[in-house]
Amino acid sequence: MTELTHFINGQRVSGSSGRFGDVFNPATGEVQARVPLASKEEFDKAVKIAAEAQPAWGAVNPQRRARVMMKFVDLLHRDMDKLAEVLSSEHGKTFPDAKGDVQRGLEVAEYCIGAPQMLKGEFTDSAGPGIDMYSMKQPLGVCGGITPFNFPAMIPMWMFTPAIVCGNAFILKPSERDPSVPILLAELMEEAGLPKGILQVVNGDKVSVDAMLTNPTIQSVGFVGSTPIAEYIYGTGCANGKRVQCFGGAKNHMIVMPDADMDLAADALVGSGYGAAGERCMAISVAVPVGEDTADRLIEKLVPRVEKLKVGPYTAGDDIDFGPVVTSAAKQNILSLVQSGIDQGAELVIDGRDFSLQGYEDGFFVGAHLFDRVTPEMDIYKKEIFGPVLSTVRAGSYEEAIGLAMNHEYGNGTAIFTRDGDTARDFANRINIGMVGVNVPIPVPLAYHTFGGWKKSVFGDLNQHGPDAFKFYTRTKTVTSRWPSGIKEGGEFNFKAMD
Ligand code: NAD
Repeated sequence: MTELTHFINGQRVSGSSGRFGDVFNPATGEVQARVPLASKEEFDKAVKIAAEAQPAWGAVNPQRRARVMMKFVDLLHRDMDKLAEVLSSEHGKTFPDAKGDVQRGLEVAEYCIGAPQMLKGEFTDSAGPGIDMYSMKQPLGVCGGITPFNFPAMIPMWMFTPAIVCGNAFILKPSERDPSVPILLAELMEEAGLPKGILQVVNGDKVSVDAMLTNPTIQSVGFVGSTPIAEYIYGTGCANGKRVQCFGGAKNHMIVMPDADMDLAADALVGSGYGAAGERCMAISVAVPVGEDTADRLIEKLVPRVEKLKVGPYTAGDDIDFGPVVTSAAKQNILSLVQSGIDQGAELVIDGRDFSLQGYEDGFFVGAHLFDRVTPEMDIYKKEIFGPVLSTVRAGSYEEAIGLAMNHEYGNGTAIFTRDGDTARDFANRINIGMVGVNVPIPVPLAYHTFGGWKKSVFGDLNQHGPDAFKFYTRTKTVTSRWPSGIKEGGEFNFKAMD
């Protein structure tokens, strides 16, 4: 059995707490490795190393720091297949999906190459007699990040690339479900020229999260994961005086208007609802066709597409649509929510409960499910399922449809499919959700825009990546300096004459 490690002070370090977590191959259901779960002492030791290393890194000029990112991007390209292979084996997602996971993180690293421009300060010449005023953006010191299982490459890179290019040291506590890729990423950062101790990976569970939240040296905490944990981390981190940003769960609605291109809408729903087995925070999990006729036409288009989806292990080739879910517990949770949908009166149009794959009977596979006639009181509507289950809620009007999305507690992403510009514009302007697609089902902003939801999908003020990341990972210092030169304010100009 492979025993995984932490990455501390530039090297792989075995755990010393005596506590371990199982890392599964979700396709076979076998435990393929065990990951050390750090103690508070192990975590605090990494923080001490980071605090010693950070001042020298913070003093390196931004252009040199950006060059480390340039090299890192090259190394990610070089190792793309290797990273994707490891990622798929622990997460279960298809190989192309795993490469996409690395690619979207890589794009944030690329964006960070612009750090010299982003970190430029402001200057006011002659703010008073002999007085200049300037503001600079300085690193915070040691920053921490806690990441979920579903994007083990992209989300760590969302956090550590801007933090580090801004001159901070960063300690990552990745998900214990798929912890290998973050270690490989940390090694690549060092190969790219990052000094030891600036990026460390401490594997663990709540113990290391709590150590991060209470260690006085940690200046900021970034979190991405489920909403209850986001709320806990936001509250505890703020109470401990840290700068905190937390991104939580989702229930993304796609509204399908009667004038929509129904083939486009159905293709979009299948890709966004079932891709990555529905384990995406931007997955569409609720389709809202407007009008009975639209709903009937949509279901008719969806059924053959969903029935055709190929489910299998990533090793079966690139024509697999989605793989297993991450753990047996995740599978049981999805199946029990499906049962609640049936019990509460939803119509199960496609039933994936009995899905089984020869040779992979113990894998955590869940077949595709399609529900129709779901209503807002049902648990499958209220809760995030995070599996290959698409619910259809039939709305009588556009107002009813937009009202559903507006009244749901989550506000991560949403989409509308229509040919009408007025409706699309009204939707984009009124909706209380952070990321909106118009005829685009997964409206994930690119690296140079910012990513973030509204309502219970976010806790904190600033979004991920884009310009917000440079705000989150720096603090502003404003200097007012006087160098008396003997020249009076305004030179020879007589202000009194103007009064
Ligand atoms: P999770 O909340 O279970 O775990 C996330 C992280 O928190 C992990 O590192 C985990 O070790 C840690 N953690 C778990 N329980 C904890 C506890 N009791 N105390 C302290 N730390 C704890 O989430 P997950 O299952 O890994 O990821 C799926 C969730 O993440 C979904 O809800 C999904 O919507 C959400 N997500 C959101 C976004 C976004 O940007 N909004 C992006 C990706 C995933």
